[in-house]
Amino acid sequence: MALVWMYTSLLIFHFSFLKPSRALRNYPENEVTLLDSMSALGDLGWEAYPPEGWEEISVMDERNTPMRSYQVCNVMEANQNNWLRTRHIARDGAQRVYVEIKFTLRDCNSLPGVPGTCKETFNMFYYESNNPSLWFIKESQYVKIDTIAADESFTQTDVGDRVMKLNTEVRDIGNLSKKGFYLAFQDVGACIALVSVRVFYKRCPAAVLNLARFPDTVTGGDSALVEVHGACVDDSEEVEAPRMYCSADGGWLVPIGRCACRPGFEESKDHCQPCSPGTYKAAASDEYCSKCPPHSHAHQETADECTCESGFYRSRADTPAMACTKPPSAPENPVYTLNDTSVSLEWDPPQDGGGRGDVTYDVRCRKCPGDGRKCSPCGSGVRFLPRQLGLTSPRVLVSDLLADTNYSFSVEAVNGVSDLSPTARQQVTVNITTGQTVSVILKERKSKDSVTLAWHGPDRPDGAIVEYEVIYYEKNQRDQNYTVLKTKATVMTVEGLKPGTTYVFRVRARTDGGYGSYGGEIELETSHEDMLAIGDPNQSTILVVSVAGGVVLLIFLVACFVVSGRHCGYIKAKQDPDEEKVQRGRVKLPGSKTYIHPHTYEDPNQAIRDFAKEIDASCIRIERVIGAGEFGEVCSGRLKLPSKREIYVAIKSLKAGYTEKQRRDFLSEASIMGQFDHPNIIRLEGVVTKCKPVMIITEYMENGSLDTFLKKNDGRFTVIQLVGILRGIASGMKYLSDMSYVHRDLAARNILVNSNLVCKVSDFGLSRVLEDDPEAAYTTRGGKIPIRWTAPEAIAYRKFTSASDVWSYGIVMWEVMSYGERPYWEMSNQDVIKAIDEGYRLPAPMDCPVVLHQLMLNCWEKGRSDRPKFGQIVNTLDKLIRNPSSLKDLANVSTPDLSVGTVDEWLDAIRMGQYKENFASAGYVTLDAILYISLSELSKMGVTLVGHQKKILSGVQSLHAQGSQVQV
Ligand code: AMP
Repeated sequence: MALVWMYTSLLIFHFSFLKPSRALRNYPENEVTLLDSMSALGDLGWEAYPPEGWEEISVMDERNTPMRSYQVCNVMEANQNNWLRTRHIARDGAQRVYVEIKFTLRDCNSLPGVPGTCKETFNMFYYESNNPSLWFIKESQYVKIDTIAADESFTQTDVGDRVMKLNTEVRDIGNLSKKGFYLAFQDVGACIALVSVRVFYKRCPAAVLNLARFPDTVTGGDSALVEVHGACVDDSEEVEAPRMYCSADGGWLVPIGRCACRPGFEESKDHCQPCSPGTYKAAASDEYCSKCPPHSHAHQETADECTCESGFYRSRADTPAMACTKPPSAPENPVYTLNDTSVSLEWDPPQDGGGRGDVTYDVRCRKCPGDGRKCSPCGSGVRFLPRQLGLTSPRVLVSDLLADTNYSFSVEAVNGVSDLSPTARQQVTVNITTGQTVSVILKERKSKDSVTLAWHGPDRPDGAIVEYEVIYYEKNQRDQNYTVLKTKATVMTVEGLKPGTTYVFRVRARTDGGYGSYGGEIELETSHEDMLAIGDPNQSTILVVSVAGGVVLLIFLVACFVVSGRHCGYIKAKQDPDEEKVQRGRVKLPGSKTYIHPHTYEDPNQAIRDFAKEIDASCIRIERVIGAGEFGEVCSGRLKLPSKREIYVAIKSLKAGYTEKQRRDFLSEASIMGQFDHPNIIRLEGVVTKCKPVMIITEYMENGSLDTFLKKNDGRFTVIQLVGILRGIASGMKYLSDMSYVHRDLAARNILVNSNLVCKVSDFGLSRVLEDDPEAAYTTRGGKIPIRWTAPEAIAYRKFTSASDVWSYGIVMWEVMSYGERPYWEMSNQDVIKAIDEGYRLPAPMDCPVVLHQLMLNCWEKGRSDRPKFGQIVNTLDKLIRNPSSLKDLANVSTPDLSVGTVDEWLDAIRMGQYKENFASAGYVTLDAILYISLSELSKMGVTLVGHQKKILSGVQSLHAQGSQVQV
């Protein structure tokens, strides 16, 4: 007994040495403590039996506060069976709880004289019950949690120099369903001090993300994720239903969807605040409130639109972001050209367009009798070309007027807000008198090659007469050729005519207001021989010809006006052919969803201007280099645009000394990326092209490329997390295929991962697939293709389609599920092509659910129309996330060939050859030796990655299985 006391005091002595401290115990935010023995002030009140077994004692912590703990040290007697049972621990809704125990355990060898029955382990049990006050539970009713051994026992190495470590072990109990449970510790003859017992469960602490509030959530009972729907914070609304997953270890994962502040509110940290007076926000978006546009104001908070100042208006088509505007002033400087009974009117645009670019013109026509009576509307007989109202150019041709009539034309300028203004429209007026006919007097002075004509001018010319125009042509030949002559006199001799030929002559006057009407046609035949005069030289034939004669020519002139603007030749001239205006489809139409290849552009700089925002270099702060791209370094840094919050960005720069082609290829990535807007596609923030170096700015993806990220985190994710990753990639690819964009180089190395584990498709450069990708190899047809990721038809005859992207997506699935393993391992490209052609497909990675491997196999269908579309893939993955039990069936991993003789061969067979040295130096040289290897031994020998530990232990199990088969 004395010995026991001595050992016990030794244990107690060490408590102060260990300095357990309540005060310093700060538990992680996502752990909720159900029981903590260290915080109990009085007796813990646990049940110990038999009475000479576990004993409750009080020790002082380093602050001299008493602390309760239990110890037992009956090492001198055999057949010990000492139980210590906690009080009832309510589980508080948790399905999985964790038990953290801190204890010290004496090494039997360090206790002189103890018999061989001395133990160095103890057992931990639990019993679920709704009854909080059970005083007896049968030993056989307890469920065993584990046998606990010390990592570090303590040994007395010298008097007063003892080495002791506090052991900490954590075990978990899953799938709890009753109100609570009791914990029990069974000692079977060891020397133990139970310093502290803490029972806790994990939860995902309440969080606000993307303006959605997620409640405190208790983690699931098994390792599945718990899907949680977020609620939009006050004054925000759902853009896409927000949800996240609460993982087993209390972390939030895979955020999907988001809320945005509603109109009149803007985001401030995790809430929405009202737009301040003088600012507004029109839509539910993640923009900030903007200053009221010109000529508008918002006197109150929460404005979703600013009100126009008096005299200013906003048309129905105007967005709230547009300035308020007013009607235009009157058109100016009208001029006209009269042409018989048609008049062409032109004017200058108004000085003040009212602040708008949509000015059009309306023309009103009034006929004025000139006898004192009032002017009246012209009526429908008058024609306006191209139209009377809504003219976009400052000109109009008015035809079919009456000859010799006074007209008054008023022209109004109109814009999108003219109808909203109560004031009369501003206009300018022109008064015109239409043309009069010329009275032609024929003097029949003919020779064999000339004719002399004389005429009277019009009685009331519209302005001073400038000249007369004589037109003539051979009878019936008008369409082939006619001649126009001009003179200021009222007589003309036309020479150079053919003898004995009939000609048609017509005359009209031009005043400074335009042309009058033609007089009627007169026909004259030249003589066959020279003669001075035919008939009486004094005889004059007077023909006053009707206006009708001019109509044919008028139609021709009008046609000229319409087709070629104001240039209408006298001599029959060929019209310019219609200029064909080629619409090259380069400008993205609003709502258009089709990707436009930058090569469609003759000028690549135009593509950049159309699709990428130019960023001022002073808004960018480069912080560090994070990678190397084809054209230069990739850096991370920050971007602060005016009235936007600062964000982290990745900055790709074009190295100095580039050729024009390199610049074009470099920027092509931005003109492609700039056309996309999707949460799973890397977002382009803009480009810097106006100064050097030329840069492409994209959102920053904290976890870099997916392949490296997976290798670094081998085995760390649950299947649901991996499916979440795959869902994101599929959703991005669906968007690209909907836009008819074919990626051609989809691979984990070209996916980027951000801090929320959201994956985004990247790498869109034009030359990349061919030049940049180290995986790309030359095919027999000369192209460079990443063979392992590419569909057979794309390798064979370059048939790249969204269906070939689906094939690559299947390979990405395989990369993800195998944590970045190289597809087809070390097989050569040629062997891969051959194997695929013969029907071989990659087997399921370890621990891969059957359904996922099946989906991969579907993506690798030989016939491309048999492969699923990206939309179907997204739906399938969504279903799996909603129903995680469908992921429980793991694919039958084709068991590695373990007919191996040595440990090295075995490690190679399970693809863990990198640990050969670790095994050898730890003394594992025969297969027998590894059959009982434990997790802690693996850790000790340096196999620390959970995924690798799992692979090795499952390899050990296969060895066991093979061994037992042989025995059978
Ligand atoms: P790339 O030229 O696009 O292949 O980029 C080269 C490397 O830079 C990638 O493998 C990534 O590691 C890194 N990188 C590129 N873009 C980003 C980004 N937006 N965020 C974080 N890292 C990036």
